[in-house]
Parts: sequence; C-alpha cells; structure tokens
Amino acid sequence: MSSVRSSRLDADSLQARSVSRSFDGVQALSDVTLSVHRGEMIGLMGPNGAGKSTLVNLMTGFDSPTDGRIMFGSVDVTGWKPWRLARAGMSRTFQHGHSFPQLSTRENIEVAAIGVGATPKEAARRTDGILELLDLGAWQATPAGTLSHGLERLVGVGRALSSNPWFLLLDEPAAGLNDEEGDTFAGVLERIRSEHDLGVILIDHNVPLMLRCSDRIHVLSEGRSLAEGPPDEIKAHPTVVEAYLGSG
Ligand code: ADP
Ligand code: MG
Repeated sequence: MSSVRSSRLDADSLQARSVSRSFDGVQALSDVTLSVHRGEMIGLMGPNGAGKSTLVNLMTGFDSPTDGRIMFGSVDVTGWKPWRLARAGMSRTFQHGHSFPQLSTRENIEVAAIGVGATPKEAARRTDGILELLDLGAWQATPAGTLSHGLERLVGVGRALSSNPWFLLLDEPAAGLNDEEGDTFAGVLERIRSEHDLGVILIDHNVPLMLRCSDRIHVLSEGRSLAEGPPDEIKAHPTVVEAYLGSG
C-alpha cells in the first residue's frame, strides 16, 4: 500500500465546511459542515432528496459547492478534479455504480487499481490484499455479474479501495441487501476502518445498521443539517425521530 501515496496528501481529516449547492433555484444543500477523521465512521442519513449524494459529490470533486470549502487536512481542495482527489487519498462508490459484469472479481479490482495509476504488477499485489480484506478470495475468478447482490457490493468496495484511500465515501452501498448480507457488509466496513485507519462516510437508510456501526451520525433534511452526534444521542433526538427515524 505505498506507491500511489507519493502524490498523496497525508491528511488526517476531510471536511465540508459550510457548503451550499443550488441547482437552478433548487437549494440542494445549505450551509452544511461535516468532518470525518481517519479511523472514524460517519453515518450520513436523511430522507430521499435531503442532499446526501450532493454532499458526497462535493467532497469527492464530482461537483463544486456554490458556497463553502472542501478541506483535506489543512489543504483547501475546493474545485479539485476527482482524479486529483483520488490520488490525494479519497475514494468513493456511486449510488448506482456497477462492476464490469463479464470481468472476474479480481479483474474488476485490478482494472480499478490500474485506472488510478498502479502498474499491472502493483495492481495485482494490491488486489491480493483487498481480496483478503474483503474475504472475497474464493470468488476471485467468478464473473462479477454472476455474484450475489451482497458480494457484488463488496466488489464495488474493493474497487474503491484499489487507490489505497485514506477516506472512503460510500453512497448507499448496502441498498437492496438482505439482513444477513447487510450484517456481513457492516462487519467488513468495521474491519476496514479499524485495520486500515480509514475514515468512512456511509450513506444508508438501514437505521439499526447505521446505529451499530457509526461513530457519529449526521442527519440531513431538505439540504440542512438536522443533527449530528453519537448514535445514542441521535436515537434520542426528538426532531430526528419525528422527521426521519419514525416511532419504530
Ligand atoms: P439524496 O442523495 O439525499 O437523496 P440528492 O443529493 O441526490 O439527495 O438531491 C438533493 C436535491 O438536489 C434534490 O432535490 C435533487 O433533485 C437535487 N439535485 C441533485 N442533483 C441535481 C442536479 N444535478 N441537477 C438538479 N437538481 C439536482
Ligand atoms: Mg442519494
């Protein structure tokens, strides 16, 4: 896990600082501040249209804020292109991102590694580590298109890990998984965070999963921050319960 790290920023935190984003009059985000530190898992929640994907887009350079800054440690990276941020140490998955169905699990991850500048040899070495980390070794020769939904999502995470990121932003990676797959997935995220000192922002609607695996939860509603705190605090937050979590 070293060669790409030469163009890296050795940053300990990633922060969206008072960011706003409007699209032709639609205020998708208003003055939102969110930080993640390495080794920390932030759960990002909120109803559909709350601005979660927009925030991840801003933090990974796929979109620029109308107002506010994106900080990578002490470096202002607002306006940086996605590939430059990826090299600096940021990685993401997409809400509707898919693997290459005809390529094997291994090839999917190797292709992603090569895409961020690894040599084929380095890509193979890195992929070995990722397959082991994600417990995907038994499936390495299997075409991604024939994997179960849960395994395919893990391949997506493996692709995102192929740049050896410091920060991983996951946009609804567990959507559509059954309970068992969701549990496996959460276990893998916990392992990645602790073993690799990675900062993770996870978007998901599965409340028990988010309460269990987040260090802090940030709740967005209609583009604004509704609450942020440790799971126990969020669980007891009256406005959050009313607006989002529901009485169950
Ligand atoms: P979430 O991920 O929480 O469901 P989004 O960030 O996708 O929410 O969207 C927040 C708001 O911004 C929504 O009203 C959405 O329609 C709007 N929006 C997001 N992206 C665009 C875009 N590219 N053009 C216009 N409106 C957008
Ligand atoms: Mg979204």
